[in-house]
Amino acid sequence: MYDHVFRPGAIGTMTLPHRIVMGSMHLNLETRDDDGAALAAFYAERAAAGAALIVTGGVAVNAVGAGGPGYGVIGDSRDRAALSAAARAVHDRGGRIALQLFHAGRYARPGAREGVGRPVAPSPVHSDFSRRTPREMTPGDITTTIDDFAEGACTARALGFDAVEVMGSEGYLINQFTAPLTNLRDDAWGGDAERRRRFPLEVLRGIRAAVGRDFPVLFRISGNDLVTGGTPPGEVTALAVALAEAGADALSVGVGWHESPVPTVQSQVPAGTWAAGGKALKRALLAVGHKDVPVIASNRFNRIAQAEEALSDGELDFVAMARPFLADPEIVTKSAAGRPDQVNLCIACNEACIDRSFGTERVSCLVNPRAGHEEEFPPRRSTRHRSGPFGRYAVIGAGIAGLEAARTLVGLGHHVEVYEAATRAGGQFRLASQVPGKAEFAETIRHHVTELLEAGVPLHLGRRIGGEDVPELRSFDGVVLATGVLPARLSLSGAELPHVRDYAQAFADPDALHGRIVIIGGGGIAVDLAHTLTTAPDAKVTPEEFLARHAVAEDTPRPETEPVVRGALREVTLLRRGWRIGEGIGPSTRWVVMRSLRSAGVGMLTGVTYREITPVGVIVADAEGRDRSIPADHVVLAVGQVPVRDLAPLLREAGVPVVTAGGAAGTEGLNGVRATAEGLRAAHRI
Ligand code: SF4
Repeated sequence: MYDHVFRPGAIGTMTLPHRIVMGSMHLNLETRDDDGAALAAFYAERAAAGAALIVTGGVAVNAVGAGGPGYGVIGDSRDRAALSAAARAVHDRGGRIALQLFHAGRYARPGAREGVGRPVAPSPVHSDFSRRTPREMTPGDITTTIDDFAEGACTARALGFDAVEVMGSEGYLINQFTAPLTNLRDDAWGGDAERRRRFPLEVLRGIRAAVGRDFPVLFRISGNDLVTGGTPPGEVTALAVALAEAGADALSVGVGWHESPVPTVQSQVPAGTWAAGGKALKRALLAVGHKDVPVIASNRFNRIAQAEEALSDGELDFVAMARPFLADPEIVTKSAAGRPDQVNLCIACNEACIDRSFGTERVSCLVNPRAGHEEEFPPRRSTRHRSGPFGRYAVIGAGIAGLEAARTLVGLGHHVEVYEAATRAGGQFRLASQVPGKAEFAETIRHHVTELLEAGVPLHLGRRIGGEDVPELRSFDGVVLATGVLPARLSLSGAELPHVRDYAQAFADPDALHGRIVIIGGGGIAVDLAHTLTTAPDAKVTPEEFLARHAVAEDTPRPETEPVVRGALREVTLLRRGWRIGEGIGPSTRWVVMRSLRSAGVGMLTGVTYREITPVGVIVADAEGRDRSIPADHVVLAVGQVPVRDLAPLLREAGVPVVTAGGAAGTEGLNGVRATAEGLRAAHRI
């Protein structure tokens, strides 16, 4: 199984046991005031689980190059100590680790380091991502920065790292030099293709001169910038060849800028889509005789089987996976053991990882809330212990919070029983799995349920627990109450009319909705519902179709996807009291979903006051106070949720320790990330 993945490979002087690299992720653990404990624990667990080579999150080569407040800077002694601890921890577990040398350029966000002024870049081209206009680098700035990269590589080696990776992709400084969009210079560092690629080459040459030929140096090259004015395809190929000639030991191929109109890492992107870019560079290298420079593909691989497929024609050498190692540090070992079904899949939601990496909150994972908190919570055991100090606990509710609580309790060695009123596990998370692009949410439920069943946990489906069951629950040492939420009702004239239903009823039978549909509410659930009603249910788009649809091979990548209307033509309108539709959806995903809604013709009215629901529509007052009637054949209420937690006081009264988690704990800020994190914490607290 997976013969192309599980065979040794070499990057320069470094031999690796298999072909999966753990790709770089910024974690917001890098500058914590803990001597690197959290960072080291995070990487150590993944090294112990068989990651062949771990690439750290970007470490800025100087303070002005830091991407944000949580980025480490290699010249900072405290950050160096944390990095050194991480390298030691990885080596202690038998792993290898490369430090990523990073400079954000115009993507540096405010507050990166005290005293650091405006970001710097080849030219003063404003960035909508960082919302900043950088200062143009002087020739002196440029040579100093090249020296900083070289010194950073020496420091990485001195700190015990096995290699460095130069971040030259995703629109960061080096990539800004190669793209005509952001390099408007006409001097030694810009003006034509050769001068635009001089900076990356000088960076690589500087590093090579500083660390010698034997220290492995990977270069992350942008296979396609996916922005108008990005590095032209011919220049990407020429850069790849020139980097190989300048001594790169491997090319890791990234894709897309933060300002790109084409989604690259969202769940809507078919798995393996970006492998083609890596293969094209590999062919270009082979054509000029560089057969010893491995090419590493990345982005949108979440299963080892996909890596196997990408590697099977010999046109790629390695596959880098990043988020899948957050979701399941053991993805490699489980797959190697022939149990890929045991892998807790990354579902590409980005909610706890990429979205947080833009701020300062610790990066974690929706489906594995221990990620980023390894030093806080001990690893789970794989089998249940039935004797000793272990307890007997009931988990009521098998939504995502309850499932997480149950698997954590099992992992801690306790006896657990799970009760669920519905006949299937998953709760609200199962609704989400119907939304286009979110089909893999069902995988999380499958995984968690399978894990519990394999551990022998009784899963009582279709068993509603009420007050009459409290005496029985006294036999447990404690209860995790994860009974979730119910859709909130709306106190509005006409809300009881027969053509009005709540969002849960709408998700239960979307085919019953046709014609003109008004959704009252504009939060994440309303947006998901509108998306579900107007787009084909996870139509199997192939990577080739996706690339063609976005004109990825052309100079001007197209932002729009063609909407595929589901069944009968529907006209959907979202109404919101507030001003922002889709509030609460993470920044890496919201723009993609909003664009889908717009291209599907979904109407959006914000700043309205609901007046009345009538048999033929909804009457609202618009922002100017004028009454408007929105015709509707169906009205769906998505106006929030109420927690279900009636059992909590009864259990407390009966002397049963109880901890609430997920929706039962409150609906403020409720999402999957909060729910699973609370499930984890509840299991440790009870
Ligand atoms: Fe994947 Fe979502 Fe976890 Fe990020 S938070 S690693 S996208 S499952």
